[in-house]
Formats: sequence, C-alpha cells, structure tokens
Amino acid sequence: MEQMSHFGMIANYHTHTYRCGHARGADREYVETAILRGLKVLGFSEHVPMPFVDGHESGFRVPRRLLEDYVQCVLDLKREYAGNIEIHLGFEAEYYPDLWERMKTMLSPYPVEYLILGQHFPDSREVTYGAVPQSSRQELAAYAAAAVAGMRSGHFSYLAHPDLFCFTGSEAAYREEMGKICQAARETGTPLEINLLGLRDKRTYPEPIFWELAAREGCRVVLGCDAHDPKDVARPENVAEGYALARRFGLEPEGTVDLLPPF
Ligand SMILES: [Zn+2]
Ligand SMILES: [Zn+2]
Repeated sequence: MEQMSHFGMIANYHTHTYRCGHARGADREYVETAILRGLKVLGFSEHVPMPFVDGHESGFRVPRRLLEDYVQCVLDLKREYAGNIEIHLGFEAEYYPDLWERMKTMLSPYPVEYLILGQHFPDSREVTYGAVPQSSRQELAAYAAAAVAGMRSGHFSYLAHPDLFCFTGSEAAYREEMGKICQAARETGTPLEINLLGLRDKRTYPEPIFWELAAREGCRVVLGCDAHDPKDVARPENVAEGYALARRFGLEPEGTVDLLPPF
C-alpha cells in the first residue's frame, strides 16, 4: 500500500529563512523536514527586500545584502535535492504599484519562480500594519483594495493570509470589504491561503467569517505553513487543524499550486 502523506499535504509554498531576522534554523533543515513529512514540493518565499526609493531597509524582510545569498542557497538546495523533493525559488511580497518596477529590476538577475502576495500594509508608506486590531473602515477598505489590485496584477501565485487585517468594527462592514477580496480571488482564479502560522500562534487569523465568505464565493483554497522554523514545515497537528478549518466551511484545499512567472 502506498504511504499517505500527513492529511494530504503534499506542497508548501510559504517558507522563510533566518535571513528575514525573525525566523530560525538552517535552510537545509526546512528541506529535510519537508521530505520527512512527505512533501513533494517546497517553495521558499522569503520576505522580499522592498526597494524603497529612499533606501530604507525593512526590519522584517531580507536585507538587500543577503538577497544574493538567499537566491544562491535556494538554487543550490534545488539542485542538491532534485529527485527527492521539488524546490522552488520565490518571495513573499506586498503589491506596491509605485515600487513594482524597482522590484522587477532588483530581481531581474535571478530565476524567481513565483511570488506570493502578503499584503502586510496597504501601501508603500507602511504606516498601518493590517494585523494590529483597528476599527477604521477606511483602513480596512484600503487593505482590501490593495489585495484586490495585487491579485488583478497577475504577478502573484496566491494570496497569503488574506484575512490578516484585524477589524474591530462592524461585521457588516467586514463582510462587505472582505467580500471584495473573495470576489476578485474567484474572478482571477487566485487561491487564498489558510495560514497555518496563524493557527499555530493563535493569531486573529484565520478569521472564520472570512472563510465563510470565501466558501460562499467558491474560492480556491490552499494551505500555507508560513514556516519560520524548520519544525513548522507541515507539522501534522497543524496541518490537520488547517484541513479541519477548511472542511468546516466545505472548502477543499488544493494539493499544489500552478506557479505564475511573476515578471
Ligand atoms: Zn515572516
Ligand atoms: Zn510569511
């Protein structure tokens, strides 16, 4: 009998490395854990260095000086483990239209296979972090609009933690604004990620109301580990929790994602 992988998870496209400054472990350990736990595909999606015009360096992203090292290490692992697991080179990025050309130029020397959209802030001023509890409908609408624009840009393979924004205002407003994300996801065929880090850390996401909306809209869904530690790659109980949440709303996470060339 063929051995089944844990609860059916065969691919994870949301993996960080120590370079972003808030993750740990050796790159290789993420790969070894993925193989042990039955993954066939592992995508690295480090927080892209955001090429701000004034040269400012983010506190939670890969510093520019480590970009080359990140790319080379992932490509080396990809070659070394070919035959054991499929490794992909990606990044997690916000969609900031004003910085897009700069990002494209910065990444153009590298064979980047995909981007996942992680809209931590609505715009490149990065004033309002979406996960901080807030009641401003205007900020909620700005978050939703940015996520929608990112999906419609066609550059992103999926939308990470779509329910990142922690809204403390009225449920009706939440449904209306977040419904726009679900509608755009359906129209563009963009899978929405149930974020397993949110479940592990008991964050405010995944937000059940959002997933009810996504199910009603008929959105595509995928699980993402958002691993910041090798042990968090496809942790069985964490994956089971993700599937349980999906199934509560009649959603069936897709095993793999078709990666879109970002540029
Ligand atoms: Zn992170
Ligand atoms: Zn992430």
